[in-house]
Amino acid sequence: MVKICCIGAGYVGGPTMAVIALKCPEIEVVVVDIAAPRINAWNSDHLPIYEPGLDDVVKQCRGKNLFFSIDVEKHVAEADIVFVSVNTPTKTQGLGAGKAADLTYWESAARMIADVSKTDKIVVEKSTVPVKTAEAIERILTHNRKGINFTILSNPEFLAEGTAIADLFKPDRVLIGGRETPEGQKAIQALKNVYAHWVPVDRILCTNLWSAELSKLAANAFLAQRISSVNAMSALCEATGADVSQVSHSIGTDSRIGPKFLNASVGFGGSCFQKDILNLVYICECNGLPEVANYWKQVIKVNDYQKNRFVNRVVSSMFNTVSGKKIAILGFAFKKDTGDTRETPAIDVCKGLLGDKAKLSIYDPQVSEDQITRDLAMKKFDWDHPAHLQPLSPTSNKQVSVVWDAYEAIKDAHGICIMTEWDEFKNLDYKKVHDSMQKPAFVFDGRNVVDVNKLREIGFIVYSIGKPLDP
Ligand code: NAD
Repeated sequence: MVKICCIGAGYVGGPTMAVIALKCPEIEVVVVDIAAPRINAWNSDHLPIYEPGLDDVVKQCRGKNLFFSIDVEKHVAEADIVFVSVNTPTKTQGLGAGKAADLTYWESAARMIADVSKTDKIVVEKSTVPVKTAEAIERILTHNRKGINFTILSNPEFLAEGTAIADLFKPDRVLIGGRETPEGQKAIQALKNVYAHWVPVDRILCTNLWSAELSKLAANAFLAQRISSVNAMSALCEATGADVSQVSHSIGTDSRIGPKFLNASVGFGGSCFQKDILNLVYICECNGLPEVANYWKQVIKVNDYQKNRFVNRVVSSMFNTVSGKKIAILGFAFKKDTGDTRETPAIDVCKGLLGDKAKLSIYDPQVSEDQITRDLAMKKFDWDHPAHLQPLSPTSNKQVSVVWDAYEAIKDAHGICIMTEWDEFKNLDYKKVHDSMQKPAFVFDGRNVVDVNKLREIGFIVYSIGKPLDP
């Protein structure tokens, strides 16, 4: 029986390994992590992450061929294939505009693999890492371990949070990069055999190590670039009377462009886009390519601009001040169908409004009060506005309440900011909502989910990204 061990039971390690276990009943899969509470949650009825369909997959194979454990060394030692899916956050310091990925967790995992291994292993980079990381990992793995062969592969993950299980069941492609040596090719084949249980072989792409590593950064950079491109266009739409949804539809029907990822919004979030672009910028700078670095840097700058623009629009619409006014924040996660708040634009928007002394009432169906409080207290702010640069003091948190119902958040509010495209925000009883608010009642739709005309008929003043402004 082939044994797989995955180091890191997070948003990637947990779902990917659950799907491998489900699709390959003859393979034993153990997901290990140093965070005991996370492993306990994976072994309970309350999984540590919210992802549609995940509960079902885990229930079907946990205890049969899928296991979650904190006994990291034991399971790594026993495995034939070790996936490494640890976090690779952004370093806080950097010499230029780019910021390197912090590979501390990766290095410590690699050292541990080298220490505990007694048999040959395939080591798979599942985490997103800078191009050329495999070279460093190989050196760490082979150091002091004479006689044991480690073959390293790059197998970046392309799932999107919120649709992780659907993406894993039916991936656009699986990418496997390896050395062009006989051992490298043999290892590629072994991993290919795992995915071939359910992924059509023409969707399993095999490349050299560096192409696979760089492809992941490139994919995220291109996706984020599309969002920044359409968001930049949304500002122009507002200035000219064009409607960004009509523009998106018009350009998206061109088969060379395609319709996906063309929705204007308050900005992208999530743990990956900004991190991976900063990493790409850093790599360009290290390789003496400042013009290329500048090109990708703009994607992040436009994203920051978009969040800033949204806050300014809220404040200027509400008669140039939100001081003391209650504003309902609907949604806090960075997108729907996840509870993940990493780099969510909601943090920056909330901080901007708090900087102008608004009172916020926040509701998200999947994000806890603890998480929201932590995010608002800790996230450093980056904009050029001096008020935003001040970290929040504990007392200013009294400006924030977190509630468990959208109508409760909205009651007596002067304005509503929609930060996440949860379906329930489309279907609120907006007549009832209007009746319960201060007048004039404002809606600022950061995800373009509401029917603008319908809300205007009810009496709302509505701002929707990239749409003609309220007459
Ligand atoms: P995460 O923070 O949710 O999970 C990482 C886990 O690794 C944590 O639970 C941590 O405790 C564990 N860990 C760290 N060091 C360890 C060690 N030495 N031994 C055992 N466990 C250890 O991160 P994530 O969102 O799952 O992302 C993991 C990687 O995948 C990152 O490189 C990320 O960029 C990449 N990625 C993420 C996504 C996504 O949507 N989240 C998508 C594709 C790729």
